[in-house]
Amino acid sequence: MLTSLSSLFVRTLRDDPADAEVPSHRWLVRAGYIRRAAPGIYSWLPLGLKVLQKVETIVREEMDAIGAQEVRFPALLPREPYEETGRWTEYGETLFRLQDRKGADMLLGPTHEEMFTLMVKDLYSSYKDLPLSLYQIQTKYRDEARPRAGLLRGREFVMKDSYSFDVDDAGLEASYQAHRDAYRRIFTRLGLDFVIVSAMAGAMGGSRSEEFLAVADNGEDTFVRSPGGYAANVEAVRFAPPPALPVEDAPAMELVDTPDAGTIAAVVDILNRDLPARTWTGADTLKNVLFKVTDPDGSTRPLAVGLPGDREVDLKRLAAALEPAVADVFGPEDFAKYPQLVVGFISPVSLDGTRVLGKESATKIEYLVDPRVVTGTHWATGANEKDRHLVGVTAGRDFDADGVLDVAEVREGDPAPDGSGPLSLARGIEMGHIFQLGRKYAEALGLKVLDSNGKLVTVTMGSYGVGVSRAVAAIAEETSDDKGLCWPLPLAPYQVQLVATGKDSAVFEEAARIGQELSASGLDVLLDDRKASPGVKFADAEIMGMPLIVVVGRGLANGVVEFRDRRSGDRREVAVGDIVSEVLAATR
Ligand code: ATP
Ligand code: MG
Repeated sequence: MLTSLSSLFVRTLRDDPADAEVPSHRWLVRAGYIRRAAPGIYSWLPLGLKVLQKVETIVREEMDAIGAQEVRFPALLPREPYEETGRWTEYGETLFRLQDRKGADMLLGPTHEEMFTLMVKDLYSSYKDLPLSLYQIQTKYRDEARPRAGLLRGREFVMKDSYSFDVDDAGLEASYQAHRDAYRRIFTRLGLDFVIVSAMAGAMGGSRSEEFLAVADNGEDTFVRSPGGYAANVEAVRFAPPPALPVEDAPAMELVDTPDAGTIAAVVDILNRDLPARTWTGADTLKNVLFKVTDPDGSTRPLAVGLPGDREVDLKRLAAALEPAVADVFGPEDFAKYPQLVVGFISPVSLDGTRVLGKESATKIEYLVDPRVVTGTHWATGANEKDRHLVGVTAGRDFDADGVLDVAEVREGDPAPDGSGPLSLARGIEMGHIFQLGRKYAEALGLKVLDSNGKLVTVTMGSYGVGVSRAVAAIAEETSDDKGLCWPLPLAPYQVQLVATGKDSAVFEEAARIGQELSASGLDVLLDDRKASPGVKFADAEIMGMPLIVVVGRGLANGVVEFRDRRSGDRREVAVGDIVSEVLAATR
């Protein structure tokens, strides 16, 4: 196909959009691929839509190849199915809810488990109908708290979502593996540098779940890797707890004066000075942090988290662990309700043995501790009195936590939970997420089939998502440079940008002829036939990011044109008669 730039609906911009935080956002807007309609909501212009459609084609081909069948559900959905699974409420503020003229509650679909489950329930009734995998490529809606980075986190975005239906666990495992393999092929074809990491199932419920992350410094997700092959989203890392210790061996509780010790480091200094029989570090202290937790029904409750004082609570790990509940700061007005809590000196127990947090405590505040806080470990912690700390506070003797909450920050060099070596941290963009949902949705919505013995069994399901519009940005993120976009050949809107420079009509005619010949050979060619200066045309070609650029200009008088590779920056002169075959060779 040959398109002339003079007639293409596009304008490149000289300036970055004010809200652009990352290169993909900046260049996709400046190169005229997308335009913002509202925060987190974008219109696609011809160039952008071509890339989006190429991504869709790759996704569609690989889904078809594993036997998944394409369907399309509405985006505008009734409330009832989501009510039945609890997600009408659990989705919280992220769900776009609306009412029709009769006052019926509706929503804009954030994901479609409910609708697919009900459709299969409607049409199928026997194990003979299974296994079944269905997918759609469709617009999703989520009122994200922080839409950002253009297409990377939108409020309206394109997702490929698929759902597998099997009669037993072995079937689910096979469907999951087929999707996992298809995803590897999709992200390889998209040219992304990606990792597969263990993930949190989150509000989806279910058991096994993995994410496909594009490795990128600008990614919102942090993941860890070990030399022995462990890989997990940092949210999913579960520290392997040390063995419990005998409580009898723990020292007695002892009160220590810690005047003016405003930080853990200052407390540690005092302990090393006043109790020099051993060395104290921040890791010997127990820090107790309070949060106000809001459940999906709107009710709130206090939560205390106990963790080694040398580590912070990682708020993203906390959010993932508590989802669908949400944690906020425990403010002065919250503390006012619990006079037993002395800010800066909070302890699960007081010197006289009064329990303040956790089991049998007067405050009844739920107390969840880091997995390192196992029975028999003893800690330096606050004394529930100003300027005083306690040492020898022993888990399982002086206090009992209500459970374990693994939300402390994970650090470079921490041991991998499976013993496969020290962890290293990196960042990535979540491109895909695969879940073994199990029977949660089928149970909630009553999807059962007759098995081979004529017995009704609940179907087991998987759910699988690819961020299609996000992929356009992730690819741009990985391939753009300081001059603009730079697409890989299979995704570029046009493989070749043909730039005619100067005013000589012979140049424009020859450029058009080359363009026609390339187009006849099956390439998509964008011909810059505008009456603009060469500088403007070259800059636009760089911003727009077609991988191959041919410049027809003054050299034509000597029978040569310039052939540029946008990706490597290479330029060389090529005889006019050879340019078509040279370009074709470069696209193979
Ligand atoms: P995230 O953790 O990034 O919010 P998620 O875990 O909520 O994503 P899923 O429900 O697993 O996302 O959705 C499947 C895929 O859809 C994700 O892997 C991601 O690629 C894409 N996606 C999710 N939310 C957005 C969004 N707001 N904008 C663009 N793409 C998104
Ligand atoms: Mg996800």
